Amino acid sequence: MSADQPLVLVVEDEPAQREILSYNLEAEGFRVARAGDGEQALLLVREEAPDLILLDWMLPHVSGIEVCRRLKTRPETRAVPVIMLSARAEEVDRVRGLETGADDYVVKPYSVIELMARVRAQLRRTRPAAVGERLEFRDIVLDGETHRVSRGAQPLKLGPTEFRLLCTFMEKPGRVWTRAQLLDRVWGRDIHVDSRTVDVHIGRLRKALCAHGGEDPLRTVRGAGYALG
Ligand code: CA
Repeated sequence: MSADQPLVLVVEDEPAQREILSYNLEAEGFRVARAGDGEQALLLVREEAPDLILLDWMLPHVSGIEVCRRLKTRPETRAVPVIMLSARAEEVDRVRGLETGADDYVVKPYSVIELMARVRAQLRRTRPAAVGERLEFRDIVLDGETHRVSRGAQPLKLGPTEFRLLCTFMEKPGRVWTRAQLLDRVWGRDIHVDSRTVDVHIGRLRKALCAHGGEDPLRTVRGAGYALG
């Protein structure tokens, strides 16, 4: 499994429920991080930068609602989708009333199929290529389902690393990525790769994108990193 598969953080204090959720998410091809309480969840959000958080309402110490409120008030975590899980429909009404900023709410017991559909719906907004969407940037088309890339009418040949790099760029055109951020996203946090490696693969990606002509869509931002467009 590649490092750019979306990382889902499961925050649930009941071990059996936590494992069932994690198992189903992994079966769908997601990477999973697990937290058993709110404090651990806040720590893991900082350390692992998950793409989505499944957050139980009833947690020891810091409640799910408080965790959600804190995440949604911090600029660096505000955009991470949060799906709240709660045991009763009345709780969901209360979550809505509290305006915690949660992106979606699911009542337990939930259907796994429905929950996975909701997870995908959130990720289609934030990690479209990773959940199989088709992305376009100018004349470049990337199909997240078939992993094909074309420019104009020409299919392009990309290595797996260059493909993941392009996914990252095309999911957020214009965003400047530092080498460290690209390393985390494309190679994974646990793998030690020199930041020069990023430059090498950016070079290959540029070459592949311009193989049949056209201008270089990748921008080197001096002292910062790289951006698409
Ligand atoms: Ca609970």
